[in-house]
Amino acid sequence: MNFLYPHYRFGSIVEISFEWLKEQGLTTLLLDVDSTLKYYSSPLILPEVADWIEQKRACGVRFCLLSNGRQRRICKTAESLNLPYLAPAYKPLPFGCRKAMRQEHFEPRQTALIGDQVFADVMAANLAGIRSILVTPLRPEEEPFFARMKRPLEQLVLNGYERNR
Ligand SMILES: [Mg+2]
Repeated sequence: MNFLYPHYRFGSIVEISFEWLKEQGLTTLLLDVDSTLKYYSSPLILPEVADWIEQKRACGVRFCLLSNGRQRRICKTAESLNLPYLAPAYKPLPFGCRKAMRQEHFEPRQTALIGDQVFADVMAANLAGIRSILVTPLRPEEEPFFARMKRPLEQLVLNGYERNR
């Protein structure tokens, strides 16, 4: 089950401080997009999330968006944030993570993937050999059926994770 367990868990991406990232030795971050940076139904990044990215970038943290969404859509999000991206990433497969790290010259030991899905983000990061940071999805009720379908199973995994830590 270990490949399904996140290394760290936060309520939201904005709760992650620069000091904490520094303590963990994390300098580069791969970011999921839908339900992590924005509501599923909206194309707009939440303003507090955009601020969070800006603040961390000012401290020297580097980012790459890593989404299973279509290239055309994620490209616009990446442009609005002025960040590089890789999409579609085909998470939970690890190849997208590895490709994005190669593309951006990210050191795997200093990289984590932040995302909201156990069966996509956490698995992809763990299989790629980097750290995984799970956040609570923003407005999960807006997600399409195939994403919501996985949530009860995720809950089972996370119950086991909470018991184990
Ligand atoms: Mg997501």
